[in-house]
Amino acid sequence: MALKFYNTLSGKKEVFVPLTDKFAGIYSCGPTVYGFAHIGNLRAYLFADVLRRYLEFKGYTVRQAMNITDLDDKTIRASKEQGISLREYTDKYIRFFFEDIDLLRIKRADVYPRVTDHINEMADMVKLLLEKGYAYRKDGSVYFKVSEFPDYGKLAKIDISRIKPGATVEADEYEKEDVRDFALWKEKKEGEPFWVTEIGEGRPGWHIECSAMSIKYLGATIDIHTGGIDNIFPHHQNEIAQSEAATGQKFVRCWMHCQHLLVDNKKMSKSMGNIITLRDVINRGYTPETLRYLFVFSHYRSRLNFTWESIGHASNTLNRLNQFVERLKDYNSKSKSNEEITMLTSRHAQRFETEMDNDLNTPGALASIFDMVGEVNAAIEKEDLSAENAKAVYELMLKFNAVLGILTLKEKGVLSGNIEALIEEREKARERKNFKHADEIRKRLEDMGIVLEDTKEGVKWRKK
Ligand SMILES: [Zn+2]
Repeated sequence: MALKFYNTLSGKKEVFVPLTDKFAGIYSCGPTVYGFAHIGNLRAYLFADVLRRYLEFKGYTVRQAMNITDLDDKTIRASKEQGISLREYTDKYIRFFFEDIDLLRIKRADVYPRVTDHINEMADMVKLLLEKGYAYRKDGSVYFKVSEFPDYGKLAKIDISRIKPGATVEADEYEKEDVRDFALWKEKKEGEPFWVTEIGEGRPGWHIECSAMSIKYLGATIDIHTGGIDNIFPHHQNEIAQSEAATGQKFVRCWMHCQHLLVDNKKMSKSMGNIITLRDVINRGYTPETLRYLFVFSHYRSRLNFTWESIGHASNTLNRLNQFVERLKDYNSKSKSNEEITMLTSRHAQRFETEMDNDLNTPGALASIFDMVGEVNAAIEKEDLSAENAKAVYELMLKFNAVLGILTLKEKGVLSGNIEALIEEREKARERKNFKHADEIRKRLEDMGIVLEDTKEGVKWRKK
């Protein structure tokens, strides 16, 4: 079976055909760094991670870019409230973002472009859109002229003639010629950061950020663009309009969107006071892998209702999987090879791939794994498999885990995955001469009972 993904643009599952053979360029909408990521945000990043890992499992080389939005109304307001610079304010939340994704074992993207480092690229793109007649100036701001882009509304499947002010568009922008038009560039405002560019003094609008940075790092056309379902309209719709108007080429071949996460069947919001972060999960005694397991247990296009009861169940089930893997590792027997187990192993290797090829059907893949676990456990009880059989199943579990990332593999008696990731993060911080962050990580590892030693061969760690 061929690898298929559901493309939001066509509304169908399509065979994945990248622009370049065995290479996939992925752009993922990243965090706006004005607070801790909540578990709904993390679900979208984790989905992109599983996508990336599975493409790598299938032999693709992946190049992934994820924006860091450190400039928008929220970050400006929050930094002003705290009386610190925008950079200082957002630096802090960028650090927390990386800590979260490392703990969740989300593989690092190849590049994390930061908006404030790419203002010129954005201004250049706005300039091009002005020259091509897709944009117009109103006072010091620049707007995209939606009426010039006939395909507008295709991704979101909306009829734009029916958009009324106030509902989905920013109603306070009366300067626009048409309520559907959106800001590409915002005029300099008193008390807000601004940049001096060829198109004037001001700052970019939110949507242009992703277009400019994705074109810079992945080219005019990208294979896959990911995000949460909230991003479809207007954000992704606007990205398509700006990018395709500017380059004259198709922007994204496959749009993939992750569904909402609800908490006790309600949308998370500050006003409801029901925002849950990874820290809350850890403070309740659950590992990051348990949250990962809970996420992959439901399909990315299904709504996920998070409850503390559900993560409790997830924890129990995951413990059983971890115990199974430990059992395989310790299995030692003089028993003869069991042909049925050999066949079972190859059948489940195949089934995992069939499920994952089907639009990343992680619940199906897990069901297959549990079937296998049941049968192998029964054989272990009867000692009806050879040590080689057990080793083959163990290796297959590791292969699955390279995609799902849910197992807590005990090495040297501790949870090595998180620690290695944190050490790597600390090394990178030191290279960037960010010693404050490096020290924070060391402190954090200490809290986890890990002591670091800088040796000639690099950093070594041991349990306290
Ligand atoms: Zn975006």
